Amino acid sequence: MIVLKDFFVNFCILSTGIFIIHQNLNREKFLSLSLFKWRLLAGSFLGGFGVVLMQFGIHVDGDVLIDLRTVAIMIAAYLGGWVSALVAAFILIICRLTLYPVSFSALINVLVLTASTITFSIITQTNMGVGKKWSFMAVSYVIVLSVTIHIVIPDIRQAFLIFIQYSFSILSATYGTYMLGSYLWRNDQENERLKQIAQKDHLTGLNNVRSFTHSLDSAFLHAHERQEDLSLLYIDIDYFKKINDTYGHPAGDKVLQQVSKILTRSCRSVDIVSRNGGEEFSVIMPACGFESARIVAERIRQSIEQTVFVINKEAELRITVSIGHATAKQVNSQVSTQLIKEADEGLYLAKRTGRNRVCYFENYQYMSVSR
Ligand code: GH3
Ligand code: MG
Ligand code: MG
Repeated sequence: MIVLKDFFVNFCILSTGIFIIHQNLNREKFLSLSLFKWRLLAGSFLGGFGVVLMQFGIHVDGDVLIDLRTVAIMIAAYLGGWVSALVAAFILIICRLTLYPVSFSALINVLVLTASTITFSIITQTNMGVGKKWSFMAVSYVIVLSVTIHIVIPDIRQAFLIFIQYSFSILSATYGTYMLGSYLWRNDQENERLKQIAQKDHLTGLNNVRSFTHSLDSAFLHAHERQEDLSLLYIDIDYFKKINDTYGHPAGDKVLQQVSKILTRSCRSVDIVSRNGGEEFSVIMPACGFESARIVAERIRQSIEQTVFVINKEAELRITVSIGHATAKQVNSQVSTQLIKEADEGLYLAKRTGRNRVCYFENYQYMSVSR
């Protein structure tokens, strides 16, 4: 009963530790560190965590201690391979030898920890699935334990009883760690997926209007810090409703997808292409002056005008776009709403003056710059 109670306390500490590790040892948080340094850090952290688990160990017979420190080494091996496992084991061994009396059982324990660390490192290097890796780690530890326990406890009956309790504790704790870890990992993946869905337009894969606003604000801040120019294109397909009416909505969707590909192809990798809604697109162009923006806009207009859009075996069509562009020169106090307004006004002018044009708006006067 006492063992069960103590095991429960140990398991609660283990679960708390797993949450803390998940929150704080995330590789993404330490991208500035090299992978090797991060592995050293993870190993140190998990070694310290193992020492905490050791403090709550269950003294079952004299200096025989049942605790879950081995699970800390398993986590280290799983997260950071042999480097982390070795560091964690080293910290644990040093603490075991300094915090507790150095006895015969302590030396056997050092041996067990060393053998387990090597085994865990080998297991985690393999291509096995996550579940299999954890199962093999738990079983290998139980095997090492079964081989060594009677050396420390000569009484066979007592050794057997302790072995059963120890194996139960390690197997359940490993299973719990695996379940909790997979749950947290699945949650991370799901969150990442939802973040992608929230930022991307499902039809074209471009940024949606929400990330457009966010990206423009960031680009403004960046341009302001560096006193750079920032340009914006607003692009709208001409008479798109007619395409839907003539060829159907799915055909319209195909056109939107092809246009989005042309836009991405026509821009630099630093430019941010978004679908702002319906048949309206935008391109945020960091460190891009007025003239360069005009040239890119004109290139886009021409390549769309020259593209043959294949709808199906019978139908091919051509479309045109109208583009408005605006540039914030050496961004200072201007806010992004002004740039949006100007690009929108440029687009409005292109529509009003016949479509299939690139226009800009300056000093509240309409200007046409091409075609
Ligand atoms: P204009 O030259 O003045 O821009 O004329 P337009 O026909 O392109 O503009 P209008 O705003 O009248 O029509 C836009 C059309 O875009 C209407 C709508 O059915 C269509 N549309 C909006 N979203 C989608 C979509 O996701 N897929 C398809 N196929 N059509 C869409
Ligand atoms: Mg349109
Ligand atoms: Mg429109």
